[in-house]
Amino acid sequence: MTDCIFCKIADKQIPADIVYEDNDMLCFKDINPAAPVHLLLIPKQHLVSLAEVGPEHEALLGKMMVKVPEIAEANGLGYGFKTHINTGKGGGQEVFHLHIHIMGRPV
Ligand code: AMP
Ligand code: ZN
Repeated sequence: MTDCIFCKIADKQIPADIVYEDNDMLCFKDINPAAPVHLLLIPKQHLVSLAEVGPEHEALLGKMMVKVPEIAEANGLGYGFKTHINTGKGGGQEVFHLHIHIMGRPV
């Protein structure tokens, strides 16, 4: 996906403030934070949205969900955090590469 901004971040073609990375996923700070800590967790693989996933993505999505609390705690959100996923235009999605918002206020 050459014109996908999150693929470009995953490929290091454009910069981002990366807080976690492994072979499957990347987590970076949202450029327009809606909370004191606002992170985006993306699969490195281009997936458009939750509406486009299938059984072949179960392992990847499971890995990502299990990684969320670890990343949250490492970024000061051990007391708690919010997650959300916008899906499709009707769901408020603006960047069409699946991402999990992780948001909170460190205490
Ligand atoms: P969504 O509405 O769920 O598609 O959210 C897209 C999010 O991506 C928004 O919160 C934007 O602030 C964020 N965003 C867009 N471009 C970038 C970027 N280059 N680096 C970091 N975050 C971005
Ligand atoms: Zn992409």
